[in-house]
Amino acid sequence: MMAQYLEIRQANPGALLFYRMGDFYEMFFDDALAAAQALDIALTKRGFHQGEPIPMCGVPVHAAEGYLLTLIRKGFRVAIAEQLEDPAEAKKRGSKSVVKRDVVRLVTPGTLTEDALLDARRHNYLCAWSEVRDQAALAWADISTGELRVIPCPMARLSPELARLAPREVLVSEAHDRDLAGIAADMGAALTPLSRGSFDSVSAEKRLCALFAVASLDAFGAFDRAEVSAMGALVDYLDLTQRGKLPLLRPPVRESAGGAVQIDFATRRNLELTQALSGGREGSLLLAVDRTVTPAGARLLERRLSAPSCDLAIIRARHESVRFLLEQGRLREDLRGHLRRVPDIDRALSRLALDRGGPRDLAAIRAGLAQAGAMQPLLQGAPEVLAGAATALLGHDELVGLLDAALVAEPPLLARDGGFVATGYDAELDEIRTLRDQGRSVIGKMQAEYAAASGVPGLKIKHNNVLGYFIEVTTTHEDAMRAKPELFIHRQTTAGQVRFTTVDLNAIETRILNAGNHALEIEKRHYDALKAAIMAQSGPIGATARALAEIDLAAGFADLAVAEDWAEPVVDDSHAFTITGGRHPVVERALKRQGAGPFVANDCALTEASTPAIWLLTGPNMAGKSTFLRQNALIALLAQAGSFVPATSAHIGMVSQLFSRVGAADDLARGRSTFMVEMVETAAILNQADDRALVILDEIGRGTATYDGLSIAWATLEHLHETNRCRALFATHYHELTALAGKLAGVENATVAVKEWEGDVIFLHEVRKGAADRSYGVQVARLAGLPQSVVDRAKTVLEALEKGDRDGGKQMALIDDLPLFRAAPAQATPKPAAKTSAVEARLQGISPDELTPIDALRLVYDLKQLL
Ligand code: ADP
Repeated sequence: MMAQYLEIRQANPGALLFYRMGDFYEMFFDDALAAAQALDIALTKRGFHQGEPIPMCGVPVHAAEGYLLTLIRKGFRVAIAEQLEDPAEAKKRGSKSVVKRDVVRLVTPGTLTEDALLDARRHNYLCAWSEVRDQAALAWADISTGELRVIPCPMARLSPELARLAPREVLVSEAHDRDLAGIAADMGAALTPLSRGSFDSVSAEKRLCALFAVASLDAFGAFDRAEVSAMGALVDYLDLTQRGKLPLLRPPVRESAGGAVQIDFATRRNLELTQALSGGREGSLLLAVDRTVTPAGARLLERRLSAPSCDLAIIRARHESVRFLLEQGRLREDLRGHLRRVPDIDRALSRLALDRGGPRDLAAIRAGLAQAGAMQPLLQGAPEVLAGAATALLGHDELVGLLDAALVAEPPLLARDGGFVATGYDAELDEIRTLRDQGRSVIGKMQAEYAAASGVPGLKIKHNNVLGYFIEVTTTHEDAMRAKPELFIHRQTTAGQVRFTTVDLNAIETRILNAGNHALEIEKRHYDALKAAIMAQSGPIGATARALAEIDLAAGFADLAVAEDWAEPVVDDSHAFTITGGRHPVVERALKRQGAGPFVANDCALTEASTPAIWLLTGPNMAGKSTFLRQNALIALLAQAGSFVPATSAHIGMVSQLFSRVGAADDLARGRSTFMVEMVETAAILNQADDRALVILDEIGRGTATYDGLSIAWATLEHLHETNRCRALFATHYHELTALAGKLAGVENATVAVKEWEGDVIFLHEVRKGAADRSYGVQVARLAGLPQSVVDRAKTVLEALEKGDRDGGKQMALIDDLPLFRAAPAQATPKPAAKTSAVEARLQGISPDELTPIDALRLVYDLKQLL
């Protein structure tokens, strides 16, 4: 057995090997050490290898999924080696023969299909990036739903595209392994290098044609070599990990570049679109706006929020369907009632395709299609998007009829257990089941007969997997049984019991067993036939699933708009950005939950006199600047994702790029200085933003010394105004910047209002035109619980500093009075003329051009002397 193990082990490098032994997956050697630690399970020893005991650990097969999930999350890949024959068959070959085993599947983060291993409401993407000469492309697939897409994607676009997809695993040619390591790590995706052969575009084309059974890929569009290569690598990898059982992939779709709002990784993280900064979903926009009732609807929502559209016609059509369902409240509730009973069709379909499905997946498809059929008539007269979806709901009557007749109401999980084919579907099956059941009732009668015959009233007929049916009595009654050897045949004696059988009991047992096995065989045949009937329709079933998701999403948006009082935005191709009564959906939700005061709605108007405007926002910390900035970005994004928006009204000229940056975000994990990160991110905006961009800058420059920061913020603002000419919101604590509003036509000052009351600040969270008069930092510090003595001292210092400012920069003198604060203002003041040192005096006196080499050398010696 060890020889077999080592052979399989060697053939599957780079993955933990789950080696099936009966009811366990066992791991040995280094695998055992790693797995025992990662799973926190007991490490034992078994046998010897080259004189050393072999470390071993194992997990029970029935609980394997949970362990697999932990291992995948911790970055492992797992090869699963199953027993490929019955142990009895191996025995037949000879007593020492080992059961045949081989790897049936490689489990990796990007190739999961089991419900238990997946988040139902998120996609699980596997990506492949390829470069062929001067073309490059990114392809991705979700094998749990069958989606396959590709886009042209030069290396420079890779990071934002991966940020949008948030894949679990990225495939790349060995040659680019290094280039992509950083990007993949940022996204938390596993990077899997493959040989160059996997990316070869000629064999890729062959693989893809074979997969989709077409003579040429042109049937699906014209793909360039990089695109074919990337898709080919995906298919090659799936073939490798699924060991020849290819998942059900839909024909490839090329996404057009420029179809979606460009949002880079930093912006996504900052705006907490699908994940909060803290890591979870709680606090994300996605969670706050998700009112879908099906997993597929939730996944569609995630896709839309991650890539809001730039196509006016599409955006408006989506708003129209939300409005329709908002107005038709009854209809919306009826549709959602049906949708709640729609299971995850996509994932059921993909499990069936991979032969990992069971009767419940058949039932899921039956239920989904039946609900779809019932929903179609409700959608008559609905606008474009919904009407289009409605037509894809029909056409499954025959299949639903078949599944209805064939399956019981609630089938078991596994086909091998049987019991899922409905009575009345197959006369032969019914007959055999009757025989089997009769056998069982006969056994009941036999128990009574044998009790009478032996005179042992406590006699029982029992069943276990080793003995089959047997008669059991306690040892005290052994003699009574032995008295009738012609009837009772002794089988086994255990601690307190003695077990017997009879000729009749054996015969009945064989009959029951045969009938049971026969019934299972028939059911398995039906399972295969039903599965084939479904797979034959997989295309239209997939289309129905997509239509259901689309309806679910529109109904979810409508429900949200009603419940939260959201408005339909106007999106056009102007440069307008006019929001009245805007709110931040996540902050508002959090305030509501905490029972805290109401969210204060605020207006924003970024286009004055047709030039794109920039609002410069000042105000104390905690006033609500960040919240205001982000809410406006989110409103634009929601509008273009097809949703209504948290505002009384909104007019948005299409946004094609969205940027959001926060000054000095902590990024210690990546080992870069926070200020460096801030500047790299700001540079990306200034280099990329065009006049359709919406830019949100929060406290840019705060990561460095005051005057440096102020100058950088100043220049950035000017660049946005003069060169990028984009709409922007710029929050800053540099009050000096407010002077720019007078100089730059498009810049306007705004401030978040606070009130001062008995020395405390009260936050009104109201955004008004104009500049903040002061920053109230000391008051905020007091609210934060700084000791009173420090607050008092700070006030004194502040007053002195402000007085110094007014008197014309006499801060140096002031600092002598306030030694506590020497360091901070010193940077801001010009260097005082200090006494000149001897070295300096000597240097001032020389003229380098007139020095001979020997004089220069002498000078160096002189200078050294002077130190
Ligand atoms: P700043 O960026 O000015 O430091 P934040 O935007 O972080 O301030 O807001 C601080 C807190 O104030 C938020 O966590 C929120 O609880 C509250 N807040 C912000 N804006 C509003 C608002 N419009 N209405 C009510 N509360 C708000």
